[in-house]
Formats: sequence, structure tokens, C-alpha cells
Amino acid sequence: MKKIYKQNLRYLFYMTILFSIFFYRYSGSWYWTFKHKVKYHNFIAYSNDTSENTQKLLVEANLVLNEYVNFYKDTNIELKLNDQLLFHMKIYETQEEFKRYSPVYWAEGYYQEPYSNFYLEFDTPNPYHGMRHEVIHQFNTELMKRTMPVWLNEGMACYFSTCMILNGKFEFDKIDYNSYPAWWLKLSFLRSGNLEADKKTYKVIPLIALLQDQEPINITRNVNLYYLHWWTFFHFLVDGKNGKYKQGLLKFIQSEHELKDFKKLIGEPIQLEKEWYEYLKTFK
Ligand SMILES: [Zn+2]
Repeated sequence: MKKIYKQNLRYLFYMTILFSIFFYRYSGSWYWTFKHKVKYHNFIAYSNDTSENTQKLLVEANLVLNEYVNFYKDTNIELKLNDQLLFHMKIYETQEEFKRYSPVYWAEGYYQEPYSNFYLEFDTPNPYHGMRHEVIHQFNTELMKRTMPVWLNEGMACYFSTCMILNGKFEFDKIDYNSYPAWWLKLSFLRSGNLEADKKTYKVIPLIALLQDQEPINITRNVNLYYLHWWTFFHFLVDGKNGKYKQGLLKFIQSEHELKDFKKLIGEPIQLEKEWYEYLKTFK
């Protein structure tokens, strides 16, 4: 009887520790509070930044939405945008506050239906790139209503978040090196100039692996390298070779995203890999 009591006590002790760890790690998100709720067109922001800063951010979010709709303008893809459709955002005041509530320790922003989550730091050169990235995931899910392979979803999000916006117009050929993952391009994408040699050392991840969401090298330890590939490859498919592959890409987005669809609608990965590797030289 005494033994059973001791075992129960030990069990209770372990459960208390486990519960405490769980509570400490996740309780924050249950109690997150915001200072302002701001609505602008199709967006509702719950924000801990000032309402003026939040308003400015929403103006840019609306530009991203318009450009996203424009991206699909000559396709059969029907985007049902109406006044009832609202995209929700949680805006943290600082990186520190964001990290306290983020489920992924290395993330600088994330989308978890129905919220885009990111922070604003108005003293940085590009305070909006996190928002621009996350809302693309949000549009893909809530407006486009399609599940995409990782390379496609992330590549598209980076495509819309790394370019300059000048006078309210997206300039996709002008890279903003203050945005993620563009700032890693010069630091961690040290290519030798020889594609096959770079593939052997995994400075370049083989395209065939990326297209099938495979991880020939550990993604957690090489996350920036993967993002650089997803971003630049998507960029190449839209704007490379004078836009030769864009129509195929748009059809692929509407397909089942199998490798055979890619080959049929866009081309042979082995050839595209060579052209993309050349295209990388245009990123300055
Ligand atoms: Zn993303």
C-alpha cells in the first residue's frame, strides 16, 4: 500500500514538472493581449505597435494584396475577393515580444490560420518584409485556397517580400537586400561557379530534391540556404529568360504539383537547374 502511494506521488511529481514546462512554454499565446485593433480594406490588425504605424503597415499590406491578385490576372484562377473576406494579423511590438509567443524559435514571422504573426521595428531599413512574406502564405491559404509544396509557397512569399516598392509599384527586378532572405545571398551562398562541384558540396541543393520537398542536407541547420534556393528559383521561373516559364508556372500552381506535372508544364529539372544557376549571377 505504501509502495503504491509512493509511486503515485512520484507520478504526480513528474506530471507537475511536465505541466509546468508546457505551461511556461505555451501559456503566453493564451494570454497575448493587444493595444489596438485597426481595420483597413480586407485587413484586421491586432497590434501592439502604435495605431499610426499599424495603419501605415496596412496600406502596404493592401498593395501586396493588389499585386497578388495582379499576378494571377491572365489565368483561370478565380480569386474571390470581397468585402466580407478579412485577413487577420497579430502584430508584435518588438522581436523580443514576438519570440516569446512564437512556436518556432528561429522564425521571424509565421502564418497560422487565421493569423499572420510578425513584428514591426520601425527603426530598421525595411520594417515590412516580414508582413509581406507572411501575408502571401495567408493569401495562398485563405484566398487562393490551395496547398502548395514548400518550395513553391516559400518561393512565392520571398518573391513578394524581397523586391523594392517604389511609388506604390512593385519592382521585382530591384532586390531589397535589407529583406529576408536576400541579405544572406552574399554571405552564405558562396558558389564556385561550377554547378556540379557546388552540388557535390551542397552549396547548391539539387533542384530535383527541392521540387520533391526532400532535404538532402539538414534543413534546421541550413534554413537560410534553403530559403535562398526557394526564393531565387521562383524568381527565375517568373522573370528568368524573359518570362518564358511564367505561364508554365501558373499552370503548375493549378496542378497537383507532382514531378510529372512540373516536367510537363515547365520543363526538365536538369536543364532548368543549369539556367537557374546562370540566372543567380544576375543577383547583385
Ligand atoms: Zn514562409
